Amino acid sequence: MKAIRRTKISDLLKSTAFGTEVNVRGWVRTRRSSKQVAFVALNDGSTIKNVQVVIDVEKFDEEMLKLLTTGACLSVNGMLVESIGGGQSVEIQATEIEVLGECDNTYPLQKKGQTMEYMRTVAHLRPRTNTFGAVFRIRHNMAYAIHKFFHDKGFYYFHTPIITASDCEGAGQMFQVTTMNLYDLKKDDEGSIKYDSDFFGKQASLTVSGQLEGELAATALGAIYTFGPTFRAENSNTPRHLAEFWMIEPEVAFNDITDNMDLAEEFIKYCVQWALDHCMEDITFLNNMIDKGLIERLRSIVDTEFVRLAYTDGIKILEEAVAAGHKFEFPVYWGVDLASEHERYLVEHHFKRPVILTDYPKEIKAFYMKQNEDGKTVRAMDVLFPKIGEIIGGSEREADYGKLLARIEELGIPMKDMWWYLDTRRYGSCPHSGFGLGFERLLLFVTGMANIRDVIPFPRTPNNAEF
Ligand code: ATP
Ligand code: MN
Repeated sequence: MKAIRRTKISDLLKSTAFGTEVNVRGWVRTRRSSKQVAFVALNDGSTIKNVQVVIDVEKFDEEMLKLLTTGACLSVNGMLVESIGGGQSVEIQATEIEVLGECDNTYPLQKKGQTMEYMRTVAHLRPRTNTFGAVFRIRHNMAYAIHKFFHDKGFYYFHTPIITASDCEGAGQMFQVTTMNLYDLKKDDEGSIKYDSDFFGKQASLTVSGQLEGELAATALGAIYTFGPTFRAENSNTPRHLAEFWMIEPEVAFNDITDNMDLAEEFIKYCVQWALDHCMEDITFLNNMIDKGLIERLRSIVDTEFVRLAYTDGIKILEEAVAAGHKFEFPVYWGVDLASEHERYLVEHHFKRPVILTDYPKEIKAFYMKQNEDGKTVRAMDVLFPKIGEIIGGSEREADYGKLLARIEELGIPMKDMWWYLDTRRYGSCPHSGFGLGFERLLLFVTGMANIRDVIPFPRTPNNAEF
């Protein structure tokens, strides 16, 4: 085969160099044949669009043509010509074809229109479909937008540890990390496991959040963000929870809760606008195939001011809804940790736009949040989104050493884990705020996909760590 430099399909489709010979490589999506011509739709992942390869059957070896099956990988030399058929701008009239990888009829992606559940069982191959190709291209673009947003604002990307000995959220939903022989655990006289001979000399886990270390960085570098994997051993089998997910956590010295809300709102709008500006082909596909309201919802978010509302006022609205006959699965009362149905009621029914809920009861929020003067609430702020519920959780942090220490003691959090965190309040403490955005929750919103398992390449959930 003649050596011609490969052109990506995304570039080819923009090309007007008609009459030149090009090389494309990719995987067969579909093949149609008549007696004289075969049409192969080739995709190389650079774009959701295929390029059509037109094959004059007489000019090629019959045995080779039999190998042009769905899923096969080809290298094609051919003439770039203007397409006369509708749909695409260019096509390729094949001069030479090499089958790089054959694909027989056991290929799991032969049939179209498989369920999302089925696609999860073939997660190793599903990126080769239109839907998952679109999702993962958008995922990349969103990651890039996030780094760009913070970099342009002068934030530093700070790497917090993945293995940790402290439980940031205090929720006890951590995966342990150990090299101990689980068949022969050493225990002390009380029957507790002895960790001194374990790898780290103490009990260690996978992090649930980089926030505590992020706060250390913010009180040194001014404004930082983390962007990394986090792990939660919560047994919540919902369409919005993963055991391994990616979180973005900005933390900013001297920001109060209002600055924090401003940052969160600007940040999400920037990401959504980025998707509209840079991923429209993929979004259009998802809008047509997955979620008809997607584009409209994305556009409306960037133009709408988010509602800012105190938790106490949110509860009033929900109580009024209950009084008016609205049925929730879970009860509503002051002090309740809002369920997704409550959050979505406020966003989708009542306000019909995103809501930032603030000043939650301290009992349902983490120990590090700044305590309000009322003694009952803390300066928390959760951003609630249509279809998703909570997409961001954040707060102004308690900067007062005495108050923070009192709260840690009240909750019985072991000081041996927390001394270094308290040092930020002991030495040059400053007001500061931050939040965590679940990357996959953002992706749910931007792609219109219904289940969080379908916006991460290899989902980890209870009873599932395949691939
Ligand atoms: P939820 O109430 O939905 O379980 P949370 O209150 O536990 O969330 P935070 O601890 O505030 O969440 O974490 C910050 C953000 O991380 C959340 O707003 C959400 O976007 C995301 N997040 C939290 N838990 C998960 C999870 N298990 N899978 C995916 N994303 C998550
Ligand atoms: Mn939260």
